[in-house]
Amino acid sequence: MKTAFIGLGAMGYPMAGHLAKTHEVIVWNRTGDVAARHAAEHGTKPVGEVKACAEADVIFSCLPTSREIDTIVETLAGDLRAGQLWIDNTSGDPESARATACRLAGLGVEYVDAPVTGGTNGAAAATLTVMAGGSAEGFARALPLLELFGTKIVHVGAVGSGHAIKAMNNVMLAANIWVAGECLMALKKMGMDLAVAFEVLNAGSGRSFASESLLPPRLVDGKWPLAFKLALLDKDVRIAAATTHEQHLATPVMDLVSNLYTAARRDLGESADYIEVLKYMAGMSGEGW
Ligand code: NDP
Repeated sequence: MKTAFIGLGAMGYPMAGHLAKTHEVIVWNRTGDVAARHAAEHGTKPVGEVKACAEADVIFSCLPTSREIDTIVETLAGDLRAGQLWIDNTSGDPESARATACRLAGLGVEYVDAPVTGGTNGAAAATLTVMAGGSAEGFARALPLLELFGTKIVHVGAVGSGHAIKAMNNVMLAANIWVAGECLMALKKMGMDLAVAFEVLNAGSGRSFASESLLPPRLVDGKWPLAFKLALLDKDVRIAAATTHEQHLATPVMDLVSNLYTAARRDLGESADYIEVLKYMAGMSGEGW
């Protein structure tokens, strides 16, 4: 089976590498050097024109937002054929996914939204959690391929459901990061050693993935790597808030988190890492780390 992978970013690069262990993989990236590097490292086939990906039986995509997916789908549309499968690993927007699925269904192409969680470490280790939205048949076709980079793969519902749950997951992540940051800033101000604070908090009922894995390297060891852009997390929280507003639900905490992350993104810029939001948060009190 011939596959194609569109978008070799922080996530797509390692995911396409795992696919290449057992499948022929055509790779396309907007910045072509990255595709050439991927080919040298993983034995994939780099192409200069994204249209060349249309020859694959299964097309993967992992781009920033649903907007870029729509553009690529339109670029490929004239070359697609009935029976192909499109697996979109972008963290996208449920409504756009439903429109994309309709567009592709008109060409006889099955679409599955399959965003992932687990970060760049999970992508490197092939231990991602994948939440898939689509038909039972589409999911069954996608599953053996998703297993090449995921360990927990769940069919969560119809097209768009994967994006919906991913957006809600990231609201929980964003809220946990922010509130853990506030508590640690307060403890630091009181003179507590943050390594000691983490030791206690991470054995307590207030712990989270943020307090256990994300914050200690930054706040104790002073290492602030770029793993996931704040702009992308802001996008996810906005998707969740918009989806919720459409249902006329009152979600004040989600709205607050969305406003805070949007303000932080504006302040820190498009290439800041998501945990840098804590620098913005501390700055609101005239504090730093
Ligand atoms: P990156 O910013 O690292 O990579 C983005 C990719 O999209 C690059 O290949 C980039 O190409 C390409 N791209 C950007 N704009 C365009 C465009 N207009 N047309 C074509 N290609 C474009 O993002 P990530 O890999 O981190 O994220 C990808 C998706 O995965 C996002 O939806 C994100 O929310 C999600 N995600 C990210 C996680 C993470 O920890 N990083 C974890 C889970 C999900 P180029 O090289 O030319 O810039």
